[in-house]
Amino acid sequence: MNIIQCIFCKKPFQTLGRKACPDCLEQIDKDFFVVRDYIYEHKQTNMDKVSEETGVSMQIIRHLLKEGRLQLDEIGGGGGLLVCERCRKPINSGKLCKACTDKVSNTMKGNVDARAAAAKSAADSASFKGSAKVKNK
Ligand SMILES: [Zn+2]
Ligand SMILES: [Zn+2]
Repeated sequence: MNIIQCIFCKKPFQTLGRKACPDCLEQIDKDFFVVRDYIYEHKQTNMDKVSEETGVSMQIIRHLLKEGRLQLDEIGGGGGLLVCERCRKPINSGKLCKACTDKVSNTMKGNVDARAAAAKSAADSASFKGSAKVKNK
């Protein structure tokens, strides 16, 4: 059991890995459709207007952007609201800019290769031991 405070309403709740309580998640789902419909009808708008006209708080809109459910380029700009967590460049959605996403995935791939090599040499020595054991039997 893991009790944390909801990032939106500050209410303590039992989490299954989410940072928002079920009530807020349900509300955010509703807000998402309201915001999405508003953006669909008002292509050239901005964040302040979206929040003002839909009554959805900036915190929730920001949350939807971070989750990648909303795209800022759909709103027509609003650059600088979200920045890349590595290089601080303005981005439209998610947490990292494209360049950093590529860099991170390359680094991760490198780690995987190194780990695979280590695992392989471990497996080699294990199979060597294994065959030695078979011989002894
Ligand atoms: Zn909540
Ligand atoms: Zn970046």
